[in-house]
Amino acid sequence: MTPSLPASSAPSITARLEGVRSRIADACRVAGRDPASVTLTAVSKTQPPAAIDAILAAGQQVFGENRVQEAQGRWTARRPGLPGLELRLIGPLQTNKAAEALALFDVIETLDREKLARALATAAEASGMTPRVLVQVNTGAEPQKAGVPVDGVEGLIARARDLGLIVEGLMCIPPVEADPGPHFDLLAELARRNGLAVLSMGMSGDFEAAVARGATHVRVGSALFGERIGL
Ligand SMILES: *Cc1c(COP(=O)(O)O)cnc(C)c1O
Repeated sequence: MTPSLPASSAPSITARLEGVRSRIADACRVAGRDPASVTLTAVSKTQPPAAIDAILAAGQQVFGENRVQEAQGRWTARRPGLPGLELRLIGPLQTNKAAEALALFDVIETLDREKLARALATAAEASGMTPRVLVQVNTGAEPQKAGVPVDGVEGLIARARDLGLIVEGLMCIPPVEADPGPHFDLLAELARRNGLAVLSMGMSGDFEAAVARGATHVRVGSALFGERIGL
């Protein structure tokens, strides 16, 4: 049997999008923030074309993807018809995919080492593009997780700037079992100290807490599309 979405999937994605947007607006009101200061990044990894069509029709224009190749398959053909589209890479990037990532993504949120900064700079030189990046911080000091250690943040920002990258802000993924609040506070403090405006933090389970702590970009997948099948 071919898996297919139920006929009701389009209206339900629209309703979910409205629900998430209004929860962000409520969290902004509670925090005394302008709702326009928070961008909803819809995490579209693994989603089938019908779900993408539905959320585009509902007006969503900013998307996050974890994998370069998967994102190419989903977005390369759609992109020319979508002038307002913004694509953000939120998964780990290998240096040998730097050029492809730069060609597809508007912002790379997962810069976490000098070697990758150098690869992006080289790709930028070849293509004439200027990479916009966030530095991913391993706020929980988890050995298996991507992200620069907290004590390496300042150095990596400086190095990336030397190489001509535009460092717009910071991104983090708190440890799964932890209270995310202190991790969001730490990321916000690191951004303040380094004069950075963009804070990508908060996912389906904790985006309101992230908004309360200054998130400018929340990355929401399952709350918009339903539970994912696979990674
Ligand atoms: C998958 C993913 C998300 C979205 O997760 P949900 O819990 O489905 O909202 C956000 N950020 C990153 C880095 C992800 O890989």
